[in-house]
Amino acid sequence: SIPLTFFGGIGGASRQGVLIKGGNYLEALAHTETAVFDKTGTLTRGIFAVERVRPAGDYAEAQVIELAAQAESYSNHPISKSLRAACAEQPDPKRTSDVQEIAGQGIRASVDGHAVAVGNARLMEALGIAYIPDDGVGTVVYVACDGAFLGSILIADEVKPTAAAAVSALKKQGVRTVMLTGDAPAVAEHVAAELGMDEVHAGLLPGDKVEQVEALLAAKRPGSSLAFVGDGINDAPVLMRADVGIAMGALGSDAAIEAADVVLMDDDPAKLSDAMRLARKCMRIVY
Ligand code: ADP
Ligand code: MG
Repeated sequence: SIPLTFFGGIGGASRQGVLIKGGNYLEALAHTETAVFDKTGTLTRGIFAVERVRPAGDYAEAQVIELAAQAESYSNHPISKSLRAACAEQPDPKRTSDVQEIAGQGIRASVDGHAVAVGNARLMEALGIAYIPDDGVGTVVYVACDGAFLGSILIADEVKPTAAAAVSALKKQGVRTVMLTGDAPAVAEHVAAELGMDEVHAGLLPGDKVEQVEALLAAKRPGSSLAFVGDGINDAPVLMRADVGIAMGALGSDAAIEAADVVLMDDDPAKLSDAMRLARKCMRIVY
């Protein structure tokens, strides 16, 4: 039977906006020694803004943005939302077909019958597009049409106001903090340094994230747990593998909320250390 204090702990957490799906996760939270975070949407707001457009050849800035937004018209990735927000006129999904979303790389789609690709350098390389590398500070989105390079769009995200406090509270609790991200190393390292994280791995495809989490699980101290916190976009498989999978409730996808063991209702990463403190308190009462 479940000790009564588990209910107290779960109830107490829910009043703080942390949904815990069972007493065993409360226990795992209490024993967490490694907290692994996704970057986009978890430590950063996941709300990108277009900083600048660098068209290739004679293309106009608006053309590059509008074609990219058009190709992304079915995507719910934070990047696609930022492209739509930068358009004077909203894309018409009816013009887009054959959409292929390539996790960790970008989108391929047919727009008015033209083959459009929108994504990172990895995607351009995979498609053999002669793109011009853009070394701007932020996330770079390259756009190609029918094999020709159209230009790059520099977008930037913001670190969540409570992310630094979230990391420092965990460190005070003796928890090692790790960032896993599909974004470029330059952006990832900048954010990790700003937050004072212990470890960062960038440029990861969803499969690489699973491998990293498995390596961390294999290396952890017996009896300790590993928590993974993500927004669920491209990281549902790691949410499932971690001892405690934690999803963002507001921005996160329904699939992530379903796959997660714990949900942070208001997307505040600082709620993790609060929940861990509460979980430890409950365990001391139980044992
Ligand atoms: P993170 O691991 O930081 O949450 P993702 O795995 O969602 O990031 O994406 C990793 C990278 O893949 C992005 O930084 C971007 O370069 C590229 N990417 C993924 N989805 C898209 C998309 N819909 N449009 C353009 N680029 C994308
Ligand atoms: Mg993400």
